[in-house]
Amino acid sequence: MASRNPGKLAELRRLLAGHPWELVDLDAAGFSGELEEPGATYDENSALKAQTVCSATGLPALADDSGIEVPALGGWPGPASARWMGEPATDVDRLHGLLSEVERRCPDDRRARYVCVVTLARPGMEAVSARGETSGVLVAPSGSGGFGYDPAFLSDDLGSTFGEATAEAKDGVSHRARALAALLAELDAEDDHRDPMPG
Ligand code: IMP
Repeated sequence: MASRNPGKLAELRRLLAGHPWELVDLDAAGFSGELEEPGATYDENSALKAQTVCSATGLPALADDSGIEVPALGGWPGPASARWMGEPATDVDRLHGLLSEVERRCPDDRRARYVCVVTLARPGMEAVSARGETSGVLVAPSGSGGFGYDPAFLSDDLGSTFGEATAEAKDGVSHRARALAALLAELDAEDDHRDPMPG
């Protein structure tokens, strides 16, 4: 798994439980390099992270690039969600920073969406990517579940913040779960395509 974000790792592990994959983290895979996110899009960053780890380890690598978007702010912060405040800001600093920007610039339209692109890079095969989204509204933080912006993200699907939701509830509607489901469907379609016709 081409990520060092513990929140994401925990989610991806839960989401893939029951699938016949053995998930190993970067240390266990012997990868000690940096994972850069130089691209302007989730697709570029997700593909780059997966390809980097796949090439270095010779193993299939799963990466995710994700972010939160405020449509009233032109989709900001988007792919820069983890970095827009610079170093050494924490998740909590970014959460409060985002709420301040929304309060200052678009207090009457607090809609937001999470977006995730997952990529599976495989040795000697074409990489596969898929995207998932989930919508909500930015509110005063409530709850301590999830990670990142979750306490301030009031999910349209759940009617509670992702911080208040159980892990299972978030997994039922999250951008990451939707992206992964779409990726698995693409892999299934590949398999179907490759299977010989009966008879
Ligand atoms: P990156 O994919 O490593 O660029 O980081 C994405 C950033 O977006 C995270 O560090 C969080 O700030 C935010 N983010 C993405 N997905 C989630 C989520 O499910 N909950 C909370 N924050 C998220």
